[in-house]
Amino acid sequence: MPFSTLGLRDTIVKALAEVGYSNPTPIQQQTIPVILQGKNLLAAAQTGTGKTASFVLPILERLADTQTQRKKRIRALILTPTRELAVQVQSNIVAYAKYVGVSSFVIYGGVDEKPQKQALLDGVDILVATPGRLLDLYTQRAVHFDELEVLVLDEADRMLDMGFIEDINKIIDKLPSERQSLLFSATLSNQVRALAKTAIHRPVEISV
Ligand code: AMP
Repeated sequence: MPFSTLGLRDTIVKALAEVGYSNPTPIQQQTIPVILQGKNLLAAAQTGTGKTASFVLPILERLADTQTQRKKRIRALILTPTRELAVQVQSNIVAYAKYVGVSSFVIYGGVDEKPQKQALLDGVDILVATPGRLLDLYTQRAVHFDELEVLVLDEADRMLDMGFIEDINKIIDKLPSERQSLLFSATLSNQVRALAKTAIHRPVEISV
């Protein structure tokens, strides 16, 4: 089954062909159509299954549609547990977005804030972030959530293991309630389900 049958535009499929993907993985086959419909999602998927493209591709499809009214404020937020994962997710976004005019940026702690603030000021469509630094920049009014359409909690179980629950709850509290929310986790533990309950309104549940 080729990517084009999932409802992704030619410019995205072309970029995927260039990175060597010809067919979607099982998690991509199951989640991409659901996310494209605008539904909320709770997905159990390990790393290595292709979960990153599962949420990145429908976000690109959604944002590419409305690029004529380009906005300065972030429209999609992807929270990840570590700097390494954040960097990896954003580099995937750059590759998949090669032929669509959707911008992205990555922020994390432990480095100078200034370039991150400048990038946010210049305007970013998709922001990939670790929770602590994001909250820090929000408190300084360097990032605004009023145009946010999509939230992704990536590797939610690891974020909880690393003690990010308070930061995550504070961030979710600031987001528009009219949004699409997606949660990906290797396991759907009780804590992950509790987070999903506060963060995601009536999600579709998918396990691979
Ligand atoms: P992830 O689970 O998102 O960390 O992805 C695992 C690996 O699979 C990454 O190296 C991706 O580049 C690769 N990948 C993701 N989707 C596909 C696909 N449809 N076909 C081939 N490789 C893929």
